[in-house]
Amino acid sequence: MTGRRDLRCAVIGAGMAGILAAIKLREAGIDDFTVFEKADRVGGTWRENRYPGLSCDVPSHLYSYSFAPNADWSHRFSPGPEIESYFERVAADYAVMQRVRFGEAVTSCTYRDGQWRVMTAAGHEESADVVIAATGVLHHPKYPEIEGLDSFAGAIFHSARWDHTVPLDGARVGIIGTGSTAVQIVSAIVDRVERLSLFQRTAQWVAPQENPAYTDEERARFREHPEELADLRHRLDEMFTLFSNAVVDAESPEAAMVAQACLANLESNVMDPELRERLRPEYRAACKRLIISPDFYDAIQRPNADLVTDAIDCVEPEGVRTKDGRLHELDVLVLATGFKVDAFMRPMEIVGRNGITLEQAWTPRPEAYLSISMPDFPNFFMLNGPNGPVGNFSLIEVAELQFGYIMQLVERLRAGTCEEICATREALDEFERAREQAARRTVWVTGCRSWYLDDRGLPAVWPWRFTEFRKAMEEPDTAAYEFS
Ligand SMILES: Cc1cc2nc3c(=O)[nH]c(=O)nc-3n(C[C@H](O)[C@H](O)[C@H](O)COP(=O)(O)OP(=O)(O)OC[C@H]3O[C@@H](n4cnc5c(N)ncnc54)[C@H](O)[C@@H]3O)c2cc1C
Repeated sequence: MTGRRDLRCAVIGAGMAGILAAIKLREAGIDDFTVFEKADRVGGTWRENRYPGLSCDVPSHLYSYSFAPNADWSHRFSPGPEIESYFERVAADYAVMQRVRFGEAVTSCTYRDGQWRVMTAAGHEESADVVIAATGVLHHPKYPEIEGLDSFAGAIFHSARWDHTVPLDGARVGIIGTGSTAVQIVSAIVDRVERLSLFQRTAQWVAPQENPAYTDEERARFREHPEELADLRHRLDEMFTLFSNAVVDAESPEAAMVAQACLANLESNVMDPELRERLRPEYRAACKRLIISPDFYDAIQRPNADLVTDAIDCVEPEGVRTKDGRLHELDVLVLATGFKVDAFMRPMEIVGRNGITLEQAWTPRPEAYLSISMPDFPNFFMLNGPNGPVGNFSLIEVAELQFGYIMQLVERLRAGTCEEICATREALDEFERAREQAARRTVWVTGCRSWYLDDRGLPAVWPWRFTEFRKAMEEPDTAAYEFS
């Protein structure tokens, strides 16, 4: 094949998406690549988050690579350490570890003379024809702006930076936040602590979902009959596709079903009418990322649990003072306050064609054609980039579909039919116009404040059905790209 090129690739990040990229590059016969990982281990999210109660909220058999099913998941929603071990095992089995440069934070990527120059904090420099950014979405912890936060005399940490040296048994623990993380922590520690205060700014809808353990027999059957495992995954996939339809169409029957299940959960499982009212959200179910928990309502009704709904005034050395003047004395304060979801690969400095920086391209907000490619940043592709699917889907499936799409573009470079590929400005603008329009019909804009919403109050996510995402990822529309 005349013109065929050997490509050198750089993958940034060795979380779920970076491991996937390494495996798939090699599978496609591209062996000349480096994975840069700033930490000393693979696993990303599942390495960083080590809080009590951490588990996935997508069933484990769906939250697995399609090519690496795991017959041994312990639960329907398995705990975080098990997920971390899964990624470590897959990375080892597929010989990814040898290709990772650990402890190498990429600080900049600069496009010059048809190549990317990748620089790391350790002073290492490498050239690459193609860069794949797999730097994560829920990666940079967001800290709340509360007066006096630094003055707290007890232990204080973000949920993604859990300090396991701090004893919880018999302690008075406060948790700020009511998202999935806070809910998981409450259920996990309430019976260990003397007093648990959950500081709630906004009540959340909670979808009931049992989390049974798989029996030894079931696991053995999955091992012996992989077709049963494949069948289970297929059924789970169909169920979640149904759910995805619910969130993108606020008026759909599926949305009504989700709302009904959450309402019944609240009505039938919270006994004290006053507490029930304080736990009742004033917005529609799934407007914020839906909480999935089998036992949160149980936990928050324990005698040592206190749902604090008065707004926080300030933090003092002894604890948290609420606007009603009450001081909630604490030994430990956990900030379950989420992540800076619009950072993506920043603070890395990325300079594309003609000196255009990512900061310029992403002012006022992050954008990418189909979340994957940006004009003026040739041969630079993102996994789990801006405005992609996030709402209660398996991000593994999302990344696998994205990678399959990216590989088709990379194959064009490899075939030597062109040297540079990036989305056109027109394609990106048109995509953004359509995305904004569709976003206005989703449940995410029906009257709540959530991390999905951007500076305009529009959800920074894929606003169509998941089936449409699958379709969009089948094959690049060549008219949307500049091949030069
Ligand atoms: C508490 C929590 C629970 C979650 N539960 C679910 C769930 O149930 N289902 C689901 O689908 N998703 C869930 N997610 C989302 C989860 O982040 C994704 O599923 C998935 O792990 C993302 O993988 P990733 O590789 O894209 O990013 P990450 O896992 O964030 O990995 C990114 C990697 O890139 C590295 N990196 C970043 N910047 C640089 C740099 N400049 N140089 C070098 N390395 C860099 C990081 O160190 C990290 O290892 C959850 C997230 C959190 C925080």
